[in-house]
Amino acid sequence: QVKRDSRNGFRFFTREMQAHSVRTLTLANALRTAQERGQLSLMYQPQLCLHTDQVIGAEALLRWHHPQLGMVPPAEFIPIAESTGLIVDIGHWVMCEAAAQASRWRRDGLPPLSIAVNLSAVQFRNPRLSDRVAQVLDEAGLPAEALELELTEATTMEDPQKAVLIIDQLSARGVAMSIDDFGTGHSSLSYLKRFRVGRLKIDRSFVRDITEDAEDKAIVAAIIQLANNLGMTTIAEGVETAGQLDFLREQGCDAAQGYFFSRPLSASDFERYLSATLMR
Ligand code: C2E
Ligand code: MG
Ligand code: MG
Ligand code: MG
Repeated sequence: QVKRDSRNGFRFFTREMQAHSVRTLTLANALRTAQERGQLSLMYQPQLCLHTDQVIGAEALLRWHHPQLGMVPPAEFIPIAESTGLIVDIGHWVMCEAAAQASRWRRDGLPPLSIAVNLSAVQFRNPRLSDRVAQVLDEAGLPAEALELELTEATTMEDPQKAVLIIDQLSARGVAMSIDDFGTGHSSLSYLKRFRVGRLKIDRSFVRDITEDAEDKAIVAAIIQLANNLGMTTIAEGVETAGQLDFLREQGCDAAQGYFFSRPLSASDFERYLSATLMR
């Protein structure tokens, strides 16, 4: 059997791929109604400042719990949401939900946190993005600088010239921006300096072996230097050990998130985590 693939021309359609595509179709179909059925939720992973050891923000991470299929990992359903276009509505819901939560935390007197939301390339390309973001902030009553949009390096490099303009539009609204999974894409340094983003997120793949691997050490040190020289800050993702944290601190990394501090938490667990850190 042969399947037409728009990007790669013709490909053999194996039994394994067929099973895979049945699951993909099932997920795509179920994803259409996931939000209205209350199957989507957000988890919040604390982000810590390495200069003050304070929690400075949280990354909102989408979760999908399907009654029959169980927890479907974002790595599996986000690509499906993107290819079906469902990501536009789902991503909008994520932004609204995260902004509303951050706003409630402010009203409840928690220290002012910034909330980071992952933005898919499909959302990024949407010409109404910046209006939508403004509307979301307005409805939530959240100051723009409390929202950070995470764009992956791959998203920005798809069409870097256009990305410069979109980023300018968004930053004119006052929202913060960061480049996620930095180091895994193919950044053009000449564009990087034109992106008005506040920080680079050092990808987990470089952090993992940072205590043993000389090359990863060199890459992470170089990313931190580069960011600082371009007037950006850095946050490391996937920090799991004290050893990794020590190295990052030594190199002057500004912030970190990872299992060493906390896994992504429900909103109420995040509140408990935050109060515990305030008592330290
Ligand atoms: P990401 O934005 O790079 O998010 C970080 C991922 O690393 C999260 O996985 C998080 O749970 C995981 N992580 C955090 N600390 C550690 C650690 O110490 N060790 C390890 N092994 N993992 C850690 P998650 O939640 O499964 O999300 C995976 C990806 O899915 C995200 O990568 C992001 O690209 C995407 N994603 C998640 N939520 C959304 C969303 O609302 N919208 C969009 N467009 N993408 C999302
Ligand atoms: Mg992210
Ligand atoms: Mg990331
Ligand atoms: Mg990553």
